[in-house]
Amino acid sequence: MKLLLHSCCGPCTTFPLHLFRAEGFLVGGLFFNPNIYPEEEGEKRWQTYADWANRAGLNARRVRMPYRDWVQAVSKPGKCRECYYVRLGHTAKVAKEEGYDCFSTTLLVSPYQDHQGIVLAMERASREHGIPYVCRDLRRGYLRSRQMARGNHMYMQKYCGCEFSMGGEG
Ligand code: SF4
Repeated sequence: MKLLLHSCCGPCTTFPLHLFRAEGFLVGGLFFNPNIYPEEEGEKRWQTYADWANRAGLNARRVRMPYRDWVQAVSKPGKCRECYYVRLGHTAKVAKEEGYDCFSTTLLVSPYQDHQGIVLAMERASREHGIPYVCRDLRRGYLRSRQMARGNHMYMQKYCGCEFSMGGEG
């Protein structure tokens, strides 16, 4: 079964990729994170992810969207949940267009994210684009993902992504 895995960053991709492959999925990677501010930070996270994908034999690519468009898309109550939907809605769309069987996201590995909000965004994306999502509570692998990232000398960011989250943890 072909699964398109939305990746928020390299460190968070380590454990989910390992797990989904262990479950037998043929995984492709998509880096679509227009929420990351500033531009240089987005480049740094993309390069870290792309380098890891290359080493892990993951076919991965990046899709871009201007930060100002993302700000407009999430400028309503429940900003983080809209942010999840912007990213996962597009992931579901790409998965459908490119013949994947399902999609998922590495956001599920972080205990610092709104897990329920991510699941709701996956459900909505799945419904709107007509493709199943795969949900696992990957938070049990969070520490393992940090160990794998450190072991591979990966850049580890200190905040979730947008300008409003600078100073917090992602
Ligand atoms: S804090 Fe994170 S999830 Fe919430 S809007 Fe900002 S980048 Fe998106």
